[in-house]
Amino acid sequence: MFQVSIWEKESFYSHKDVIIVGSGFVGLWSAYYLKKSHPKLSVAIVDRGIIPTGASTRNAGFACFGSVTELIADTLKSGEDQMLEIVEMRYKGLKKIRKTFKDREIGYEDFGGYELITEDQELDFNTMRSNIDYLNHSLKKIVKKEKSFYLSDERIAEFGFANLQHLIENRLEGQLHSGKLCEALLKLVVSMGVTILNSIEIKSFEKINGRIELQTNQHFNLSTNQLLICTNAFAKQLLPELDVEPARGQVLVTSEIPNLPWKGTFHYDEGFYYFRNLGNRILLGGARNKAFEQEHTYELSTSDNIQNELEHFLHEKILPATAFTIEHRWSGIMGVGTEKMPIVKEISDGVFCAVRMGGMGVALAPVIGEHVSRIMCSEKK
Ligand SMILES: Cc1cc2nc3c(=O)[nH]c(=O)nc-3n(C[C@H](O)[C@H](O)[C@H](O)COP(=O)(O)OP(=O)(O)OC[C@H]3O[C@@H](n4cnc5c(N)ncnc54)[C@H](O)[C@@H]3O)c2cc1C
Repeated sequence: MFQVSIWEKESFYSHKDVIIVGSGFVGLWSAYYLKKSHPKLSVAIVDRGIIPTGASTRNAGFACFGSVTELIADTLKSGEDQMLEIVEMRYKGLKKIRKTFKDREIGYEDFGGYELITEDQELDFNTMRSNIDYLNHSLKKIVKKEKSFYLSDERIAEFGFANLQHLIENRLEGQLHSGKLCEALLKLVVSMGVTILNSIEIKSFEKINGRIELQTNQHFNLSTNQLLICTNAFAKQLLPELDVEPARGQVLVTSEIPNLPWKGTFHYDEGFYYFRNLGNRILLGGARNKAFEQEHTYELSTSDNIQNELEHFLHEKILPATAFTIEHRWSGIMGVGTEKMPIVKEISDGVFCAVRMGGMGVALAPVIGEHVSRIMCSEKK
């Protein structure tokens, strides 16, 4: 039988002030803010993957805060106040990323973002115009700019997309390299003294004599004073009462396209389709709305029907006259619920969660991490 040595027990696996479950963006930013405000805290992050294996290293790398059709749909569903609160968190989060890391460290590019409005969407011009004006007005106090969104129809010819009726531009949006951002965050928190434990799955937890004991899939348990669960899509596996469901997102990347006529991040159909340039290649993801039930899964695989739909979208709308091959395909799992607002709270004495980042957790994670670290530290006083 495998036994833990005294050295391991008194170092890697020692009792901690805080254990964070999940080393995606939210777990990492939470550790960063905990150590920043309380450098002496002993903090470990535990992840069941050999690297973070949920959404943070498997997304599209949009540094964005929402497209016009998506923000209007959110306003109609959850009200203006909630839409603005979430946009503000995303916008502040993007600023925090760029304040913490140099652009070249994380592959940040300032190419701007766009939303495509195609003929088959039948969006009346006056409605679209007034939606843009409404959002520009209400976002002004968040972004401190007169306009977030511009109607840029005069640029349609440059891009070469098929059946495009309107193009809405957002010059505040950018793109980054999610793998580089994750690695940079890992290095940063390790430099602050955080212990990273990979390939350990937390199966359950319980309070014993004022400590929180974590049962793992290994031959040992871990213990902590405070537990923070940042497992996003997988949150229900440890906290079944939460309103968080898995939503798989599938992606593909093309071969190099010589003379690709555009650079930037693009949204279509309330954000259900998204694509960007990756150098001269195209990364395209989405189409989850074509098979919601099938994509309600924890399986990190791809499916033929969604991949075929994405290829069809590429041929029909993005590159109607260009030959290309598909070189990469993958999926990641998002955490979604009946509302878009992330769940950040104390679940029970000493147990906290920061989950349900939806489709824009790159931007949300720094603000959510800072917020949950404040709640946890105020508990300590
Ligand atoms: C295909 C796709 C495209 C996306 N595109 C974008 C985008 O362009 N821009 C954007 O802002 N957002 C995007 N997102 C969303 C964004 O990636 C997520 O919101 C964000 O990464 C969530 O971070 P997280 O730390 O909450 O969760 P995750 O990154 O999912 O991390 C959770 C971690 O918990 C670990 N874990 C789970 N259960 C356990 C357990 N029991 N024990 C130990 N470890 C456990 C997992 O291994 C995982 O590493 C996209 C998501 C997907 C899937």
